[in-house]
Amino acid sequence: ADRAARVHVTGPGALADGTAIPLLANLGSADGVEAAVAAGAEGVGLFRTEFLFLDATSAPAVDAQQAAYSAVLRGFPGKKVVVRVLDAGADKPLQFLNAAKEENPALGLRGIRALRVSEPILRDQLTALARADAETDAEVWVMAPMVATVDETRYFTALSKELGLKTAGVMVEVPAAALLADRILNVTDFASIGTNDLTQYTMAADRMLGSVSDFQDPWHPAVLRLVGEIGAAGTSLGKPVGVCGEAAADPKLAVVLVGLGVTSLSMSAPAIAEVRDELARWSPQGTRDAADLALDAEDAASARAAVEALTPY
Ligand code: PEP
Ligand code: MG
Repeated sequence: ADRAARVHVTGPGALADGTAIPLLANLGSADGVEAAVAAGAEGVGLFRTEFLFLDATSAPAVDAQQAAYSAVLRGFPGKKVVVRVLDAGADKPLQFLNAAKEENPALGLRGIRALRVSEPILRDQLTALARADAETDAEVWVMAPMVATVDETRYFTALSKELGLKTAGVMVEVPAAALLADRILNVTDFASIGTNDLTQYTMAADRMLGSVSDFQDPWHPAVLRLVGEIGAAGTSLGKPVGVCGEAAADPKLAVVLVGLGVTSLSMSAPAIAEVRDELARWSPQGTRDAADLALDAEDAASARAAVEALTPY
């Protein structure tokens, strides 16, 4: 059908029976706020903060950070904004955080690992976020990237609360964290699945490397089984589990993610309309059946084909 002529479903994200699946936007700066609001985003599911500091040679001051965060938060009064603390690493180097050169940066001192050894930087960022939360009407949730252990989860959650944040969680993008999702969710408020890194680490294929890009497919049943672990843990503990990787922007895969227990989806603003349309066609049982088909496939292509052949119900 002609994309431009298609009439989209409007309103908040939901399945056919009305089950709410909030559709949120991924942002890297205040520049993206207008497009997110125009697309009907119900908030922000991933605010990547490192892009604000890519050129900084020293750690930014608390005041400057607070101003940058508030500029985004003011776009979402009364709405949830999930802010990720600095995720410095191979693909997003920060001069003031990634000092040593590493042979395998994707497996190195990145994300929460780097922040933990430079705790004053993390404290400043959380302090700035707590102040931005207090001076705006948005509801700030903070989360840590690249968490691999229960101990890191406990550490980040406690520090966030100590510094005045009300809701803290972790990204699940390392297979170890997915496999211990029940233990992790036990000690924090929510999880958000980063399918880009979760796929990279599950498939042992560098997401930046073109020669292994065929492996970087979140439809792979191995990745989906891990997502299922996290979804099941969230369901049994009654804790929110979002997805904020590229997978959430693929309408049919979004259906599978919901069937695996994911409760919200965050994506780049232009993807929201089609994901909203697709979810509106499916019942909760339909999404679970789609998820079962994908889990039973032997590779990404057959998982995708099996779900695409299914008629929404
Ligand atoms: C992810 O890994 O899926 C994610 C959302 O984080 P980033 O792409 O910024 O690593
Ligand atoms: Mg990531």
